[in-house]
Amino acid sequence: MPSGREIRAGFLDFFAARDHRVVRSAPIVPEGDPSLLFTNAGMVQFKQIFLGQATPSHRRVVDVQKCLRLSGKHNDLEQVGRDTYHHTLFEMLGNWSFGDYYKAESIEWAWDLLVKQWKLPTDKIWATVYTTDDEAESLWKKITPLPPSRILRFERENFWEMGETGPCGPCSEIHLDRGPAACDHQGIAHTCAVNGDCARYIELWNLVFIQYNREPDQSLRELPSKHVDTGMGLERIVAVLQNVLSNYDTDLFRGIIDATENLARRIYGTDPEADVSFRVIADHARAVSVMIADNVLPSNEGRGYVLRRVLRRAARHGKMLGLDGPFLTYLVEAVVGILGDAYPELRERQTFIAEVVRSEESRFAETLDKGLGLLESEIAKLPARAGVLPGDVAFKLYDTYGFPLDLTEDIVRGHGHSVDGAGFTRMMEEQRARGREAKKFVAQSAGSGDRRSRFVGDRIYEWESTVTSVATEDGERPQGVHAGEIAEVVTEETPFYGESGGQLGDTGTMRTERGARLEVLDTLRHGPDLVVHRVRVLEGGIARGDQVRLLVDAARRDRIRLNHSATHLMHGVLRERLGTHVRQAGSLVAPERLRFDFNHTSPISAADLEAMEDEINARIRANVECVAEEMAYDEAMKRGALAFFGDKYGDRVRVLQMGSFSTELCGGTHVQRTGDIGLFKFRGESGVASGVRRVEAMTGGGALDWVQEREERLRQIGATLRSSEEEAVERLEKLLAQSRELEKRIEKLQRDQAKSQSGDLLSQAREHDGVRVLAARVDGLDDKALRELVDRMKEKLGSSVIALGATDGAKVTLIAAVSKDLVKRFHAGDLIKRIAPLVGGNGGGRPDFAQAGGKDPSRLDEALAKVHELIG
Ligand SMILES: [Zn+2]
Ligand SMILES: [Zn+2]
Repeated sequence: MPSGREIRAGFLDFFAARDHRVVRSAPIVPEGDPSLLFTNAGMVQFKQIFLGQATPSHRRVVDVQKCLRLSGKHNDLEQVGRDTYHHTLFEMLGNWSFGDYYKAESIEWAWDLLVKQWKLPTDKIWATVYTTDDEAESLWKKITPLPPSRILRFERENFWEMGETGPCGPCSEIHLDRGPAACDHQGIAHTCAVNGDCARYIELWNLVFIQYNREPDQSLRELPSKHVDTGMGLERIVAVLQNVLSNYDTDLFRGIIDATENLARRIYGTDPEADVSFRVIADHARAVSVMIADNVLPSNEGRGYVLRRVLRRAARHGKMLGLDGPFLTYLVEAVVGILGDAYPELRERQTFIAEVVRSEESRFAETLDKGLGLLESEIAKLPARAGVLPGDVAFKLYDTYGFPLDLTEDIVRGHGHSVDGAGFTRMMEEQRARGREAKKFVAQSAGSGDRRSRFVGDRIYEWESTVTSVATEDGERPQGVHAGEIAEVVTEETPFYGESGGQLGDTGTMRTERGARLEVLDTLRHGPDLVVHRVRVLEGGIARGDQVRLLVDAARRDRIRLNHSATHLMHGVLRERLGTHVRQAGSLVAPERLRFDFNHTSPISAADLEAMEDEINARIRANVECVAEEMAYDEAMKRGALAFFGDKYGDRVRVLQMGSFSTELCGGTHVQRTGDIGLFKFRGESGVASGVRRVEAMTGGGALDWVQEREERLRQIGATLRSSEEEAVERLEKLLAQSRELEKRIEKLQRDQAKSQSGDLLSQAREHDGVRVLAARVDGLDDKALRELVDRMKEKLGSSVIALGATDGAKVTLIAAVSKDLVKRFHAGDLIKRIAPLVGGNGGGRPDFAQAGGKDPSRLDEALAKVHELIG
């Protein structure tokens, strides 16, 4: 039996072999067509070609298009799940001729594929043509062995129009008779027939021959070239080829139903009511995944609200199967398994999709039970049959419990009642008016005490929400802020993590549909339920009530994520190695590094640091799963979770568990598996206060960069030393020994030189009033040698004043000495203070000894000459 995947590929291959170009499915959100909420037919991406506004790059095209029928006149939502063949998301197989082949080839190839390749029984196939389309009928007779009795003519069913005006034409359909057992009108007065509204005869393939344009005056104008647009629902043909009556029994759905069975611990096919829920969930899981993969995110308007409605409808059916809390998120994997090959964006964004679904499900789970309780008690008040649920109840369910109107209607209809839709709409409008009033009120009072903002989840980087508050330093600004301004913006929900628990806040951007662009400079947490974005408006403006798209700088968040998870691993290892007295005293988790302060009294040895680094990296390589779970505080303590002292926790806490390595309370963002961290490197260890040590570390790509930088430096050292890196240390030791040896020799040479100079110097001493004064220049001596020389001269001259100067060409050293017997008369420190300025320096010292440095060797002789002047 061919799989759905094989049938999909087989269709494309069949037409590719007949010169058709295989094109990718268009996104589910039509590009450049605001009139349409979702792509609902294969022809959407080719509309411009039919309208003559674009030239096709290929005249023959084949594709598989993902389609959603969730809005407008093609809205099958209510019907989905109740039968076995309506879907919100379906795949449309289509071959296309843009002014190329026409009726003959279309009919011949359809027949060849269905009968010759896929082996459908000839005697079960019926064809239909438009009332006046003799050409199509004769082609069916000529090309295929169909008897005339199985070629039927229809009026309305066989004329296809794109809209009120535009391209249109007759069509020819292929129907399949699945036998009397397939009829879903058993037991009532009914005759099974083609186009007779029964499941026995199903339409397989529609071949549309586009040859007219419907003009505004409703007349038909012949198009200059004729086109073919065919469509065959994949789900249906797969059911036929897999020989099952229900689309839900094909492998396009079965994997999702299997996964649901496992979660619900119930079996599909044993309870008709539960089966409806199984089918709704399978259908909706596919639709929701495809929408999110194409960037539709839950919101309160437009496409986002359609997504929310579908998701909540699925959640309610999950509830009916006994599933509490998120479950749809676990079905995403099955959906990707089925559709991921044909639509790679699903595979690429699988984690993101699952996280968005999880976030939305957990949000609705909070109010679903209460809403259902209210609804049940209201339904009980209605008469036994055909009651009408008041509009204000439906509105309360919408406003307080997040029940979309169609969800309420769905439930109410199940009890044989209806909803006062007009009343609901009235309440909705009243609320909008009140909203405008409230805005005015806020403008007057500048009150903003009721701001709340929900963080949507750990692995979500993109979200859509409504602005609830815009404030500048001066306070609330209901009229909004504009380009160049800095402001604080709050939204109903946000994917931005507000700084807390040491983890820095996210940065990124915000955009509105009207083209405003904002840079999110930082994100802060003002309380457990309030996330505040600090923004700079780059372009346009933003005000309360605006719908914004929030985009987190994902690369930065990822780096933070690695550092944060590594902090927890490190904390565990520190406690194991150093003792359980180790407690967090402070922590910083930034994109570049992590810093962790903890109670410990002594420095950590290099050996301990290295051993801990090894252990942390071993835990990274163990690649265990990291799971964050919300639970009651007491439950968390029972599980042995570590809570950091000084932190405040509510009744409900988030517990992060990393395999058996670590269980701690933490609200931050984390990796999925420890292996994601990649690499951990300590960068330093120090003391910050008595009894508090600090370690700094890096992870992931940052740690690797750091290691590579050091490697590069080592290479440079090797190259400079002209040795291999391995021998660099040995070579450096040798060089240092050599250098010490040389220093010793230089010292000795200087001493020898000083000795030999002392004779000359003696002769330079002069007498002033019975005092022997020596002021001389002795270049080439270092400070030490100079001091020794001064001492020696003092010995030789006895009662004397001595000043010696030396320079190495750049700096100057001056030393002055006065023999003990003369210190009453002369002061070495004063002397040096007087002459040092001449060489651009200063200095001072004791009465018998003083020293100074200078920067101007050119006036050294002058400075020394001044000594004689001063003593004289
Ligand atoms: Zn029937
Ligand atoms: Zn943490």
